Amino acid sequence: MGLYIHIPFCRKACNYCDFHFSTQLLGIDEITDSMKTELKLRFPKIPVEQATHYWGGGTPSVLSHKVMESLAHQALEKAPLKPGGEFTLEVNPDDVTSNSLLNWKSIGVNRLSIGVQSFNDNRLEWMNRSHGSSQASESILRAQDAGFENISIDLIYGIPNSSIAEWQDNLGRALDFGVVHLSTYALTVEEKTKLFYQIKKGESEPPKDERAEEDFRWYRKHLNDLGWDSYEISNSCIPGRRSIHNSTYWSGEEYHGIGPGAHSFDGINTRRWNISNNGKYKRAMDVDSSWYEQEFLKPRDMINEKIMTRIRTKEGLDSKSLGTWDIELEKLWKPHVDANRVFKDEFGTWKLLELGLFWADRIASDGFVPEDQLL
Ligand code: SF4
Repeated sequence: MGLYIHIPFCRKACNYCDFHFSTQLLGIDEITDSMKTELKLRFPKIPVEQATHYWGGGTPSVLSHKVMESLAHQALEKAPLKPGGEFTLEVNPDDVTSNSLLNWKSIGVNRLSIGVQSFNDNRLEWMNRSHGSSQASESILRAQDAGFENISIDLIYGIPNSSIAEWQDNLGRALDFGVVHLSTYALTVEEKTKLFYQIKKGESEPPKDERAEEDFRWYRKHLNDLGWDSYEISNSCIPGRRSIHNSTYWSGEEYHGIGPGAHSFDGINTRRWNISNNGKYKRAMDVDSSWYEQEFLKPRDMINEKIMTRIRTKEGLDSKSLGTWDIELEKLWKPHVDANRVFKDEFGTWKLLELGLFWADRIASDGFVPEDQLL
């Protein structure tokens, strides 16, 4: 079981981002108070122990120590972290100071996920990030000096007009710092983002698949050659340093999401999502009305989720967990099997092959149970 705390605030809006966040930092106190109320409502009786706490967003590191401490106190009281549990905080480089690191340690944070994205100043400016490359480097060094050893950084590849050499430099710098985990994402264009409109108006080139694929293939091979554990399409680590929290999403375990826009899953068939609007979320909390919607997944939905998430992992997709749909999947994926993109191993587990890795989403959707199919 894992607890996810969504902090829906950021200092600046990055041009590619479609997550739920606000740059109106004045609302922080009110929303975090509402989140404390949600914690009380979600865990009304006995505390429910969690294997992980993960604070994401948005940018959790925009919280002052006082606000963070108070919210953490409530979270740890209602959903205590089991001894040795993983407590991850997503931070942006410009918030990483000697003081903030001490504060984060004092509330129990033992893993940092730093939103570096690039070590190139021009790219950071183009993305409208709130930090420069020297802040990115300093944040990692400072965190290590403060005793944080379990550090992940996020990097984005496939940026328009970039080169493989630039990506190699980015990855090389990350490895030189000795970070133990990397989350790497191909730049994608989501509707209604600033990037979407920049491209529409001709102010920016769209990202190209070929560029992203070249970066992707290079870094996967490079990390594998170095003995890294590439345990999910976008996540790699030195052996033993997987993100325990994120692994719960891919293995279909229970997790509780707190805060505007946060999602939860009961580990069986119920998914719920909180209102993705800070004001509406707060008003719902104030009057004790429903602050979330939920759906009961049909067998079809559950199979599709399994296909979508597990095929992206190193462990793969257990065909036995699909019941009779696996017979159909054999037919649907035959073109991908013939093209050496995916295969079923001797234990009946579907796994992506090197050629299929970059096309995981397409392969997954080709295997989905259609809406009119009764299972
Ligand atoms: S800091 Fe993160 S959540 Fe905030 S806008 Fe940028 S990418 Fe999105």
